[in-house]
Amino acid sequence: MQIYPNLILDALKTVRYPGTGKDLVEMGMVEDNIRIDGLNVTFSLLFDKPNDPFIRSVVKAAETAILTYVSPEVNIKGNITVKAKQLSRPEPDKLLPKVKNIIAVSSGKGGVGKSTVAANLAVALALQGYKVGLLDADIFGPSQPKMFNLEEARPYMVEAEGRELIEPAENYGVKMLSIGFFVDKDSAVLWRGAMASNALKQLIGDANWGELDYFLIDLPPGTSDIHLTLVQTLAITGAVVVSTPQEVALADARKGISMFTGDKVNVPVLGLIENMAWFTPAELPENKYYLFGKEGCKRLAEELNVPLLGQIPIVQSICEGGDVGKPVALNPNTITGQAFQALAENVVAQIEYRNTHLAPTQRVEVTKK
Ligand code: ADP
Repeated sequence: MQIYPNLILDALKTVRYPGTGKDLVEMGMVEDNIRIDGLNVTFSLLFDKPNDPFIRSVVKAAETAILTYVSPEVNIKGNITVKAKQLSRPEPDKLLPKVKNIIAVSSGKGGVGKSTVAANLAVALALQGYKVGLLDADIFGPSQPKMFNLEEARPYMVEAEGRELIEPAENYGVKMLSIGFFVDKDSAVLWRGAMASNALKQLIGDANWGELDYFLIDLPPGTSDIHLTLVQTLAITGAVVVSTPQEVALADARKGISMFTGDKVNVPVLGLIENMAWFTPAELPENKYYLFGKEGCKRLAEELNVPLLGQIPIVQSICEGGDVGKPVALNPNTITGQAFQALAENVVAQIEYRNTHLAPTQRVEVTKK
């Protein structure tokens, strides 16, 4: 006899998931990987949580349905793989037990303003009353010490929680550590691979970050083993991707997003941030000049179905603020300060929405029968 995937699906439509009363196909629990080899049938069932109480009974009911409605000769027992969408978030995070949310700030390519956005987002969150920490993990160009006017800072060791810990530097209400504090600028770029990864792990796990609402990580641009290390080390709440509206930047932003959503990394993307969205001259405040193209990030966000969290114009003061160590977000009454306040509000709203409504998108195989 010949068995077809449709016959299997029809059988699975007769099985209801007790949690909702809907059938397995309707629930989207049957993965699109039904394999048929003679009488051998294999496929996977997708559950929300690895500890779903109905896993055993649903698998048993699915086996019975196939034997009943397709043929008693089908070899199905033990051939259904169970997968879970949600990896129970490693909580409390052993490395940062008192940190509520970890945000990775990333970009597809360098020079799009990732570090500027990270610094201003951190300051804007601190102004809104949150406890904020920032780790500058950009080994290719650690610029946070400069942006926070902390170039002279030399983090020291403190005795805390029964251990010797690195005390983060602090300015504008943001606790900050940078890989730049520990290596001189010109050799930072040589810190590839294990050395950089280990140094970053130390800056996370052996530092006195204390209680934080938001811990931001300014990642190196693009994709690297640093990204992998960090996602394997920390339960990252979500990533934001900074890009300019220019086509070449967007192409790299797209790659960045697919890295986060891919199987290896699997971090939810909180949204895109369009930096250098337009230029407005001080003497013509109504005019907007779209130097890098108009609304490129907005279109990409719509296409990829991720939120656009903010649009930041090109303004001389943003650049100057970075150079003199006074992020523009410190002044929430300016256009630029307002843009960063709005961005911070959107990031908080996204995280709160996710924390209350959505299961993390992490997908892991929990049992192989
Ligand atoms: P990245 O971290 O992506 O390499 P940076 O944050 O270092 O980029 O920014 C690159 C340069 O662009 C810096 O000189 C910075 O001051 C400037 N810059 C970034 N965003 C803006 C902006 N919105 N308006 C003006 N200058 C900006």
